[in-house]
Amino acid sequence: MATPSKAEAILKNRCPRCRQGKVFTHPAYNLRKFDSMYDDCPVCGLHYEVEVGLFYGAMYISYGFSVAIVFIVGVLLYNLAGDPPTSVYIATVAGIVILAAPILFRLSRILMLHFFSGINYDPSYSKV
Ligand SMILES: [Zn+2]
Repeated sequence: MATPSKAEAILKNRCPRCRQGKVFTHPAYNLRKFDSMYDDCPVCGLHYEVEVGLFYGAMYISYGFSVAIVFIVGVLLYNLAGDPPTSVYIATVAGIVILAAPILFRLSRILMLHFFSGINYDPSYSKV
């Protein structure tokens, strides 16, 4: 198995150090457990929360995504639906943000791990 690229590792929710170990224990569509993570990488043993509160930062990333959704959906509704009543904006945005919550939660944590945790890819931890 070739080592995945950083982008692949992010899309597949893999460990930032070995790019092989899973970060989450269940698939995103498992709504009861989409948020449960391994404490340590099952392949290289990296403790994911390298400092206490690391994942609080993921909330800011998630917030950024939510703001982007509000903006994009707002612009689309205004232009494509002819500026509907405010309740339509609110219902549409709320629906999309709620439906996307498991994906945004996971993506935010993965981005936090890969870009802001200080952990770098190290091929010596990959099992070939
Ligand atoms: Zn790992």
